[in-house]
Amino acid sequence: MADKSVLVFSAHAADFVWRAGGAIALCASRGYRVRILCLSFGERGESQGAWKQPGMTIEKVKEIRRAESTRAAEILGAEIRFFDSGDYPIVTGPETIQAIVEEYRALQPEFVLSHSFKDPYNPDHETANRVSLETRVYSQALGYPAAGKPLNAPPVFLFEPHQPEQCEFKPQVLLDVTPVWEIKHKSMESMEAQGHLWQYYTDLGKRRGTQAVRNGGSKNIQYAEAFQRVYPQVTSELS
Ligand SMILES: [Zn+2]
Repeated sequence: MADKSVLVFSAHAADFVWRAGGAIALCASRGYRVRILCLSFGERGESQGAWKQPGMTIEKVKEIRRAESTRAAEILGAEIRFFDSGDYPIVTGPETIQAIVEEYRALQPEFVLSHSFKDPYNPDHETANRVSLETRVYSQALGYPAAGKPLNAPPVFLFEPHQPEQCEFKPQVLLDVTPVWEIKHKSMESMEAQGHLWQYYTDLGKRRGTQAVRNGGSKNIQYAEAFQRVYPQVTSELS
């Protein structure tokens, strides 16, 4: 097993691909174990392409999304676990919460990737944010009855929502994902039900890449992903 690991929360089957595919591929390429917890397939709210096909059912949509998402995770070099907690709304019962706490304790991640606090376009994303932060706190509590060693304090990075201005999202960290951009693009292409987003997220990656250079990054940066921190960065010097 890899020494270092990362835990990624994805409300729906594809969220991790658009918003953090570069970060995931980058960590995987450096030998991190990356584990994605996918709360829902997004069968009702984020599968427009699938629902346009004749004779579609909720079970078929879920199968399509599971297959796409599994393929995308494989391309990025990550593991994925599906909770099938429904969407519109996602409902996470006590068993799911317990299972996520056990995931935290088993993995002891170096850091966590999750959704933004706000998203007026999709309340499931806010649910995923809340669940990821709540279970992180439970995992730290010595008295919380779950298997595994209590968690330390892994930093949490929120990935960029689809319409950041409306979600009160501030890019505080710009991650250079140029070396793995082709991998991210391939994983986006595996999301056939949402083909309209491929170009959108390519454009966004370029824009964040330009901003990364403008903010003092290497001139060789072409693509970047933006993140917002939840907790303070701890350091012994300011640089
Ligand atoms: Zn989503």
